[in-house]
Amino acid sequence: MKKRKINVTVIILCCTLLISCNQRNIESNEPNNDHLIMAILYQQRSAEYEAICYQSFNLAKQIIDKKIQENKNNKKLAIITDIDETILDNSPYEASLVLNKTSYPVKWKDWTSLAKAKPIPGSQDFLNYAASKGITIFYITNRDTDEKGATIENLKKYDFPFADSIHVMTRDSVSSKEIRRNKVRENYEVILYLGDNLADFNDSYLKTTMDQRHQSAYEQRDSFGTIYIVFPNAMYGEWESAMYNYNYKQNTDSIRRSLLISF
Ligand SMILES: [Mg+2]
Repeated sequence: MKKRKINVTVIILCCTLLISCNQRNIESNEPNNDHLIMAILYQQRSAEYEAICYQSFNLAKQIIDKKIQENKNNKKLAIITDIDETILDNSPYEASLVLNKTSYPVKWKDWTSLAKAKPIPGSQDFLNYAASKGITIFYITNRDTDEKGATIENLKKYDFPFADSIHVMTRDSVSSKEIRRNKVRENYEVILYLGDNLADFNDSYLKTTMDQRHQSAYEQRDSFGTIYIVFPNAMYGEWESAMYNYNYKQNTDSIRRSLLISF
């Protein structure tokens, strides 16, 4: 009888503890980024992710070889590449958001100032190959101007070509990259665009709805693998913003669950 009484007391204590823990979570309103865990692990731990990157750069190499052959008039050729999740891997920053229960942009600039993001598999070899063939590389990124120095340092650390203040074009006033793309196109024939975000290619994907983005992808289907090379990024991007209608208050599990397509 006494033992049973003790068991009941233990159960009551456990329930009280659970309820108070739960209340603490609600009250503290800590960002819960657990939905990022599988996306981060896929990028960091799967050989499949690595293989997709090699596959993308192998295709990119075939494309530029063909374009070089076709360049009979010796036009100045260029490649425009994005940086984050296209040639540099920021998954350790994303992992820190999960482990520290914080959200972007907390400590983003602390991370970029370290200049220690590792190259996306195959990126250095491909860009150095392109440079060796006389192609100029432009890095068009939406990192801020005050991150430019550390970004160049990061690229130099891993021997990326054209890692200098002319060829690394950071964000100025707008998130659209079109003005910067046009600036490059004034003097070069751009033969290839590399990016993890479809807005790295043109503005039809920028701040548009999920349906509009799908429509553009369908309309531009012949450009993928011919002039646009897309890299996987399941951690973040315009695709995610579009899911929340560009309102990050909608970055909740219930919204994400409501968007699941089930049967
Ligand atoms: Mg990117």
